[in-house]
Amino acid sequence: MYKVKNATYIKGAAEKSGFIKSQKPIIAVSGKSNVGKSSFINMLANNNKLARVSKEPGRTKLVNYFDFGDFILADLPGYGFARVSRGEKERWAKTMSDFFADKSNVTHVFALCDIRHEPTADDGDMIRFLYYNLIPFTVIATKADKLSRMQVGLKKRSIAASFTCGEDDVIAVSNEKRTGIDEVLLTIEKILSVANNLNDGEQNNA
Ligand code: GDP
Repeated sequence: MYKVKNATYIKGAAEKSGFIKSQKPIIAVSGKSNVGKSSFINMLANNNKLARVSKEPGRTKLVNYFDFGDFILADLPGYGFARVSRGEKERWAKTMSDFFADKSNVTHVFALCDIRHEPTADDGDMIRFLYYNLIPFTVIATKADKLSRMQVGLKKRSIAASFTCGEDDVIAVSNEKRTGIDEVLLTIEKILSVANNLNDGEQNNA
């Protein structure tokens, strides 16, 4: 099983000029505010304090980058917060369209949604955005500890249906109970292996 290395914060970027270009694969994490994005990143890193930095005032609207050794994790600014102004929503949309427009910014997206609720309109917009830009993604359905095992199965199916993806592309996790982490690690392993094969291919063709 893939083992996550020691993860460290790199920096936050507000716009295109600050986005990181790396030889390493870049896995971005998206989701509405309060979905459990920071908890998920901390669970992955085995470090309960790591994503705290993304919550600091001034940093919540940035793409916050973490070095996970074999890959870079880009924590995207949370969306769907009812009380933000129109101007702020527009700035968020600009940051996201700049981010996803350039394939070198992102290898794969973990799109977080709350397993208890039907995906929100904003969740749907995010997934459509990923399809439109041809960005591979995996849905991470958080807070699975709040539902029974049977309900988790049913919800995974309905989330897959509403995002028109396969059920295998939906992973139910509990950041509190650390369930689902093995499936996430397996997915990371696959992302890294595909990205490294592509890199090797490019070098051989050079
Ligand atoms: P963020 O705003 O998306 O970064 O969300 P946070 O990680 O700060 O989590 C928001 C709230 O949801 C916090 O109160 C967390 O304790 C709680 N939370 C996050 N993940 C889980 C989970 O898997 N299970 C449960 N029961 N609560 C969670």
